[in-house]
Parts: sequence; C-alpha cells; structure tokens
Amino acid sequence: MSSCCDGGSCEKPGTSGGQGACPRCGAVGRVVGDETVRSIVKPGRAEGLLAVERRFCRTPTCAVLYYGADGLVVEKSAAAVRVGVKETEDPVPLCYCFGFTHADVRRQVAERGDSDIPARITAEVRAGRCACEVKNPSGACCLGEVNAAVKQAREDLARRLSAV
Ligand SMILES: [Zn+2]
Repeated sequence: MSSCCDGGSCEKPGTSGGQGACPRCGAVGRVVGDETVRSIVKPGRAEGLLAVERRFCRTPTCAVLYYGADGLVVEKSAAAVRVGVKETEDPVPLCYCFGFTHADVRRQVAERGDSDIPARITAEVRAGRCACEVKNPSGACCLGEVNAAVKQAREDLARRLSAV
C-alpha cells in the first residue's frame, strides 16, 4: 500500500497495469464509500456504481466524477452539487460542510492578507460538525484543498503587490 493521497501523487497514472486508474484520464483516484456516491450523485444515477469499488477522479480537466472497478463511469453532470476541483467559474465550492468557496478565500486574503477560514473549519471539525463523507464529492476532508487555496491566494496577492 502507498500513501497515495498525501502530497497529490494521486495525479499520476497507476503503475500496476492501470488498476484503480480513471478510464478517461488515467489518474488513480481516491476510493469513495457508498454513502458518498449515494448523496452526491443525483437520484437514479448512482445505483450502478454501488456494490463495486468506485473511485473519485480529481483531475480538473476530466469530466469523469466516479468510476467503478468494472469500467462504469458517471460524469460530473450526474452530481447534485458543483464539483469544486472541476469548476473554473464561481462559485467554486471548497468546503462543502460549511459552505466556503474559493471566492470567500480570495476576498479575505485581498482584504487582510490572510484567511481565517482554515481555522474556522478546523474548529467546526473538532466540534464534530463536519460531514465530508456525504457532502464532499471526494468523500474526504476539504482542509488540504482549503489550505492550498489560501496559499495560492496569498501568492497571487504578493505577485500583484510586487508588480506595482
Ligand atoms: Zn479522470
């Protein structure tokens, strides 16, 4: 077993004969549970994906949302929510449990140079109020994505300030 989901190495195509790889883009996605598929995919579209191993494709340019070990795929149009990693226009959801978007992070960073959103999410998570398995299409906690978005926004801001 590898610790595939640490550090974004999920983007790499699988090396073991394509096992676990998205049939469209070749990236190896994260395994998601039935509860995630059932709550994210629109009613009537999820059934075929249950009962086999299915994974979430996080490649931004790939239209595949979930794919099964049996080759079945559902595209992001089957999702009842906007899939943040695959959206380029606002609103781009970052945190599904508490409703923060990329725009919220960018606005905070523009106003005060930093964002308290990661800390607010951390506090909510500690209080047991998150539900990533059923709200986030990836089925995973959003904090990694949120921290990356804050870092990106701060770098963009620094670049803009040094350009004037
Ligand atoms: Zn894909």
